[in-house]
Amino acid sequence: MELVLPNFLEKRAQISPAKMAIKTETSSITFEQLFTRSKELAYKIASFGIRKGDYVSIYMENSLNLMELIFALKNIGCITVLHNTRLTVEELTYQVKDSDSKIIITDEEKCSLLQEPWNHSFVYSFSTIDNTVKYEEVPIQHEFNLSDTDTIMYTSGTTGFPKGVKQTYGNHYWSATASALNLGIREDDCWLIAVPLFHISGLSILMRGVIYGMEVVLHTKFDPKKVNKAIRSEKVTIISVVTTMLSKLVDELGEESYPTSFRCMLAGGGPVPLSMLERCHEKNIPVVQTYGMTETCSQIVTLSATDAISKVGSSGKALFPCQLKIVVDGVEQGPNSPGEIVVKGPNVTTGYLHRASFEDGWLYTGDIGYLDDEGFLYVLDRRSDLIISGGENIYPAEIESVLQSHPDVIDSGVTGVEDEKWGEVPNAFVVLKSGAKTTKEDIMNFLYDRLAKYKIPKRIMFVDTLPRNATNKLQRRKLKDLLHQNGAN
Ligand code: ATP
Ligand code: MG
Repeated sequence: MELVLPNFLEKRAQISPAKMAIKTETSSITFEQLFTRSKELAYKIASFGIRKGDYVSIYMENSLNLMELIFALKNIGCITVLHNTRLTVEELTYQVKDSDSKIIITDEEKCSLLQEPWNHSFVYSFSTIDNTVKYEEVPIQHEFNLSDTDTIMYTSGTTGFPKGVKQTYGNHYWSATASALNLGIREDDCWLIAVPLFHISGLSILMRGVIYGMEVVLHTKFDPKKVNKAIRSEKVTIISVVTTMLSKLVDELGEESYPTSFRCMLAGGGPVPLSMLERCHEKNIPVVQTYGMTETCSQIVTLSATDAISKVGSSGKALFPCQLKIVVDGVEQGPNSPGEIVVKGPNVTTGYLHRASFEDGWLYTGDIGYLDDEGFLYVLDRRSDLIISGGENIYPAEIESVLQSHPDVIDSGVTGVEDEKWGEVPNAFVVLKSGAKTTKEDIMNFLYDRLAKYKIPKRIMFVDTLPRNATNKLQRRKLKDLLHQNGAN
């Protein structure tokens, strides 16, 4: 029999009606108010012909409206397709067509931008829907079938064409549960969302808020000053960050510190350089590393707070009740032997839109890592970015991590370039702090002291910026184009 649970928000509104659900800079809303509002919005959306089972695309920045809309669509029984707002119209067109969405709901400012490729009966601004006087009282979904698809998110396309990841109600439920079994839930918990809601990092916080009955604070954009203020004086206890956010927060914090009530800076989405982790430990910032992806509906491996110092650099162990193994050519590897990270769990997607489901539920992540003797995962890099030089495996992320520990380096990217003798050799692109006098020779000497000889980049190029995608992730395959650009010298 299919597992069915009550509508998450309706249930939460019954249990904790008066508890604060969401706070933004200008407003706040309780769980009961959120549910009432999501019902009204559901009826308004239904008046535009939207029914259970329809795919609805959302192209909106973080806002309270977006959060309300997300729950309104669940009330109708729609599948919500969340798009990155930094996509170009062409990229969005591809995803909307691929997901066969019935309408696109967008912010007012973006609405006119999107009319061109489509038409007026297809793209609606949120305010058009909210301001309608029409009302169609479709049945509210009082129960969710856990195997039904709730949301679709396209992977960020760091390594190729984006694929629509199906996230079921069960995936969201189990993801929130798995996180709680590791980090715990405290009465005073308050999780700050300063990452986009169209990414699983942001959406998963909203889902946890409703499932746990926890307050979430929403920032429309990441502003290190505002985030530090929220942590230092507005009772935020947990925040999710990616590496670039982490370093900006630490810089902004300066000599100040966080209160002891602040218990978790959950850092994921990409490798965190060791030097950054050490800097955080020195400043008593409770960084908890995590590894996850769109396909695992947020975290699947997270370091517990107690292991944070002894296992620095590790992403931790697979959360309860998830499984993880390291595989090379179909063979499971023992400790300290790198291979592809393969995961399974109730939070793992059943598959991509229009593609076959995964066999036995095991997801091949395309990432390389190894487990230490005690079963802690160390993520090395993406398989597609691996450089094989004279038979040795070189992980660009390791070289970037060392480069970034240089005081004058603010960003770096490493990629393999063909080489007659070695097959491939690493090349490094470095962004220096403005006004820095460091030379390429200085950087080389710095690397010689810290890396094995075969890992030393053959060339170092100073550039102004590095190619990053809409998720702000480094696009290593585009680094090669940089070789031919004028900026490289
Ligand atoms: P695409 O799949 O389209 O190439 P993407 O993989 O970048 O895009 P996401 O799902 O947003 O899309 O990112 C998940 C990926 O981020 C992981 O597969 C992994 O490569 C990387 N990542 C996440 N957490 C960590 C971590 N702790 N350490 C290293 N890499 C990480
Ligand atoms: Mg991916």
